Amino acid sequence: MTSPLPTSIKVREVGPRDGFQNEPEVIPTGVKIDLINQLARTGLKRIEVTSFVRADVIPQLSDADAVLDGMSIPDGVSVSVLVPNLKGLERALERRDRFDEVNVFLSASEQHNRRNVNRSVEESIVGAASTLARAGDEGLRCEAVISTSFGCPYEGRVPVDRVVEIASRLAEAGAVEIGFGDTTGMANPKQVKDFFSVARQALPGIELTAHFHNTRGQGLANVLAALEVGVDSFESSFGELGGCPVPAGATGNIATEDLVSMVEEMGISTGVDLNLLLSAVETVAAQLGRPLGSHTLSAGPIDWQ
Ligand code: ZN
Repeated sequence: MTSPLPTSIKVREVGPRDGFQNEPEVIPTGVKIDLINQLARTGLKRIEVTSFVRADVIPQLSDADAVLDGMSIPDGVSVSVLVPNLKGLERALERRDRFDEVNVFLSASEQHNRRNVNRSVEESIVGAASTLARAGDEGLRCEAVISTSFGCPYEGRVPVDRVVEIASRLAEAGAVEIGFGDTTGMANPKQVKDFFSVARQALPGIELTAHFHNTRGQGLANVLAALEVGVDSFESSFGELGGCPVPAGATGNIATEDLVSMVEEMGISTGVDLNLLLSAVETVAAQLGRPLGSHTLSAGPIDWQ
């Protein structure tokens, strides 16, 4: 059933993690810090800044400590880090005063999870539960992101009931927010509506976050579908950066600036200053030296005169 559109949404900027980890080149730490500092001054209230994965797995994020140490974040902006397991969390905790939230992740489908982290889904759930427990002891807010929630490139459709079952176990383990990732851009708007209608019923009191990729150009259509069933929390990346280590070629998250432009035009508040955000996107475009997927960067903000 369609519900009234929310009057405001929460946006978590994931570009510094989801985006930078998928760039072929390692971006210099100083550039990352400058970009994070810029993003934190656009009105964005949530930023995922890095990940404590092993440096040999994702060398692009091997400077997680230096990024946390070097960045300067205004009050009111919540900083999150992604941790793959308890070991990663322990490394992150050496910088406990530098971040507010922890994100754990796994895939809803066996094959994607195995190819991504070399574990069964069950093993990942058990591992995530111990990581969430430890993070909870430290007073950290926890989000769990479930990749391939809307489809798997290796297995095809993933039953909604299975995704919801995984989400319920992660919520029981201490996640107060569950992110549902359309990791390889397989979701369509009808599916998104059906999915969140079921998830909302099954997960009362849990913040449900939509994490769409624009792989097939359907990212913003999926956002609208999610808004129409009451979802008010989204993850996106400036410049439409991002992807997934597996399979190769999985492409970007929805662009934060396109998301902000669309919903603000609909009268839904994000708190983000689009011009300031576009300056950050210009900086990253210049740094990467390639055209980005962002539409709003090409066209500019709408000027109604
Ligand atoms: Zn993503």
